[in-house]
Amino acid sequence: MVTTNTSTSTEPLLAVENLRVDFLKSKERPVHAVHSMSFTVQSGECVVILGESGSGKSVTAQALLGLHPVDTTNVTAESMRFCGESLIGPGSTLKSIRGQRMSMVFQDALSALNPVQRVGRQIAEMFMVHRKIGKREADRRAVELMKAVQIPDAERRARNYPHEMSGGMRQRIVIAMALALDPQLLIADEPTTALDVTVQAQILTLLTELRREKGMALLLITHDVGVAAEIADRIIVMYAGVLLEEGTAEQILLDPLHPYTRGLLESVPRPDQDVLPTPIAGGLPDPRDELTGCPFAPRCPLAMQRCRTTIPELTYAQDGRAVACHLVESGLQTKEASHA
Ligand code: SF4
Repeated sequence: MVTTNTSTSTEPLLAVENLRVDFLKSKERPVHAVHSMSFTVQSGECVVILGESGSGKSVTAQALLGLHPVDTTNVTAESMRFCGESLIGPGSTLKSIRGQRMSMVFQDALSALNPVQRVGRQIAEMFMVHRKIGKREADRRAVELMKAVQIPDAERRARNYPHEMSGGMRQRIVIAMALALDPQLLIADEPTTALDVTVQAQILTLLTELRREKGMALLLITHDVGVAAEIADRIIVMYAGVLLEEGTAEQILLDPLHPYTRGLLESVPRPDQDVLPTPIAGGLPDPRDELTGCPFAPRCPLAMQRCRTTIPELTYAQDGRAVACHLVESGLQTKEASHA
C-alpha cells in the first residue's frame, strides 16, 4: 500500500497560520490555550511539537482535526490548509480528510479501543466502513496490518480483546487503525508516554520505519526531549500556547537559542555530560490572562523590562530557524548574554 500524495512540491502538506484556541466557560474568564501558532509540515517529514505539560501542544493537535467541542471552544485561524484544502470555516473539507488522509494516535490506547470487540475486527471495520470492502477481505487486511506493526502471531492475536493485550501491543493496534486508510499525515499525541522505556523505543522505531516505508508525514506531540531527539527532523518548541523556537532537530538540540529551550534541555539528564539536570524554576503563567509580553518572562533569567511589556515577534534567520525572543531579535545571542 503506497500513499498517494496530492500536494505539490512547493506547497506544504499542512500549513497553519495564526491558530488560536480559547476555552469558554460561562461565568469564568476564557482560557487562552493557544495564543498564536503558525507552522508547516512537509510531505514525509517528522515534526515534533515539544513542550511541558499545559503548553497547548495537544490542544493544537486536536484543533487540526476539529476535535474540540464547538459549544465550549473557540478555534480561529488565519488559515489552516491540508494539501491546499481548507480545514476551517466555510468550504472546509476537514470531514473528508479526518481519519482518512490525516489520522491521529492518542496516548491512551485502552480508551481509544472498544473493550467488547476483538481487535482484529476493530481494524477490519476501518476497511468495511470507509472502503466498502467485504468482511472476509477486511479481516485479511486487518491481519496484514497487524503484521506490519510487528504484532507476532497476528492471526491469533486478531481474536484478542483489548484487555488481553499488553500496553505496547494495544498501542500497536491503535497505530494499525490509524494507518488503515493510508494517511498522508499521522498525528501522534504522546504515543509512548504510558509505556516502559523498552517498548517506547520499539514504538518510535516502528513509527520511523512506517513513515519511511509509506512516505507519510508525522506530527508528534511530546514533553520528552529524548523522544524528540530520537525521531524528529524538525522541532517546534511550544510554551504557554506560543511557539518560541523552531528549527531542525540538530539546531534545537545542539544549539538552542531561546532561553526556554535551553532551560528545557538543561532540565533533563544527559548521559553524555557530567552535569546534574537543573529544573526551570517557577510555573506556567495563568492561561486566563491575555499576553502582554513574553510568556516566559516570569521564569527567564535574562528577562528585561521590555520583555514584560512587548510580545516578542517570531524572527526567522537564514538557516530556517525561528526564535521569539527580544535578545535574539536584537542580534544578541542568548548564550553570550547569559555569560555577560
Ligand atoms: Fe527571556 Fe525576554 Fe527572551 Fe522572553 S524575550 S525569553 S523574557 S530574554
